[in-house]
Amino acid sequence: MRVEGVRGMRDILPDETPLWQRLEEEIRELFSLYGYREIRVPIVERAELFSRGVGEETEVVEKQMYVFPDRKGLMLALRPEATASVVRAYVEHGLYAKGDLAKFYYLGPMFRYEKPQLGRQRQFHQYGVEAIGSPDPALDAEVMDLAWNLMERLKLRSEGLFLRVNSIGCRGDRPAYREALRGYLTAHEGELCPECRRRLETNPLRILDCKEEGCRALAREAPRSVDSLCPECRAHFDAVQAHLRELGLAHELDPTLVRGLDYYTRTVFELCSRDLGAQDALLGGGRYDGLVELLGGPPTPAVGFAGGMERLAIVVSAQGGGAPSSEPELDVYLVPIGDEARQEGMKLLAALRRRGIAADTDYMGRSLRKAMGVAGRSARRAAILGGDELSRREIKLKDLASGEERTIPLAQFRTDPIPFLR
Ligand code: AMP
Repeated sequence: MRVEGVRGMRDILPDETPLWQRLEEEIRELFSLYGYREIRVPIVERAELFSRGVGEETEVVEKQMYVFPDRKGLMLALRPEATASVVRAYVEHGLYAKGDLAKFYYLGPMFRYEKPQLGRQRQFHQYGVEAIGSPDPALDAEVMDLAWNLMERLKLRSEGLFLRVNSIGCRGDRPAYREALRGYLTAHEGELCPECRRRLETNPLRILDCKEEGCRALAREAPRSVDSLCPECRAHFDAVQAHLRELGLAHELDPTLVRGLDYYTRTVFELCSRDLGAQDALLGGGRYDGLVELLGGPPTPAVGFAGGMERLAIVVSAQGGGAPSSEPELDVYLVPIGDEARQEGMKLLAALRRRGIAADTDYMGRSLRKAMGVAGRSARRAAILGGDELSRREIKLKDLASGEERTIPLAQFRTDPIPFLR
């Protein structure tokens, strides 16, 4: 009986993994350049971490989270995002005690029960950074610089990218803004989609996020959070923008940008791609100055972002950066002829691999001609070990690009650099 995979949870097959590995390497290297160190948090957390941290009223928690009881009835969740987990770990291990800025990065799978489409899965992968411990607006700019720098490193066309920035103010600014927004939207209630009419009561900020055209048109004319900032948040946002200009980072103010998670304060941003269609956000982030305290730590400001690996892979591939290499992956394909040669061949292979040489052989009982065909597709050279060669303790090497052949002593093959290995 065939058992199918789960809808929205993709396999990443070996043709794709070289691109993923390259992206992961670039991400790790770049994040380290900015002083971030990797943290690995569990995929399963207590469900309340997200309902409290991300927010009960958010789409992510309300509709998209995979929640289940363990065998003792403890409610668990597959993590829908990692910021809450990183902050939990930060608090749980008392990492604030040093009183220093803590910089973390992570990579890994996240889970949200969403409607699958291009660039949107139910299991997807995020890379992200969290800088916990400073309110400095220069840090907001540094995090956005990191995001831009990643795209430059991956050689994405900058014309295809845009950085949207907004400030949604602090907790103190929120009630006045929420009421201003609610007042305006209530006056236009008839133009809202049914879902947003409900949100009008529970969480009017979410309406700015809605993708329905009617709601979007209203959002464009709605009161702006930047107009309700307290003097400190205003100064903070001015400073963030000044730093962005200073760093030469192109950005546009988008007063409708609010982001889907409740923990954000002050700066919010998204880096988007014109190559992605409806799901155009490559990454998104912002400040979350209240989250550490909310999860039981001391008041601690923080800023970070998370990006989707799948979307990054789509954009990099669309711009020609993801083509699988046509270079053969093996250094040597061993073709033994006869049982005795095969036995000797197994020892040779084991020795080559211990020397860091990528080598393989046939396990399908192929004829010499067919085995040479496989060698031609997968390796830079074939090493042919027939009865004659074996009796002379020699092996025949064939460069599969040039056709050049050479016979060398087995002892040399086992220990010396292999000739014409590029
Ligand atoms: P968020 O955690 O919602 O702020 O999302 C941050 C980034 O993660 C987005 O900009 C996307 O690149 C990616 N992302 C979020 N949800 C999904 C999903 N369901 N499938 C694929 N990528 C996603």
